[in-house]
Amino acid sequence: MKDTLRLLLSLSCNLNCEYCCNRIPEVKKRFREMPFGDIDFSRYQNICLTGGEPFMDRLLLYAVIRAIPESKNIYLYTNGLLIMNVDVYFLGRIPNFKGLNIGLHYLEQLEQINGQVDRLNVRYAMRDTLAADFFAAYPGRMNKNNTKIWKMNECDTPNEDLVLLQI
Ligand code: SF4
Repeated sequence: MKDTLRLLLSLSCNLNCEYCCNRIPEVKKRFREMPFGDIDFSRYQNICLTGGEPFMDRLLLYAVIRAIPESKNIYLYTNGLLIMNVDVYFLGRIPNFKGLNIGLHYLEQLEQINGQVDRLNVRYAMRDTLAADFFAAYPGRMNKNNTKIWKMNECDTPNEDLVLLQI
């Protein structure tokens, strides 16, 4: 059963990861492009906002968050590099915002991410081949409870519908 909507706000990103799931033809085939007003939120319990990088268009991101029914759990997927203090402030006050998933793609990335994000319910996601290096480099910020380790090409999400927002 599909209980989760993965809503891609756009495919634009400030990084260019060669292994990005959005490049995989089988994943792209699952994208349904539709305007926000056509999305039937009643079919889902969880809404995962992603991209591309959602913070590249902050106004769109917050407009979407405000328009999602309050009964739905919102999770945000980002590489974290564009997050400002004001974002942490806003996100922390959204009652149905449940978690921030930050994808880490290179070792120095965490130094470039606003440390205020740790005030939110944050989970750091990284490739298995980088995990040991991340744990060694950031012992204060990384622990078993706030990390998710993934393997290359783990893009299959059978419990999700994928919608690319049509603007
Ligand atoms: S940061 Fe994420 S969305 Fe952007 S290119 Fe890398 S994997 Fe894709």
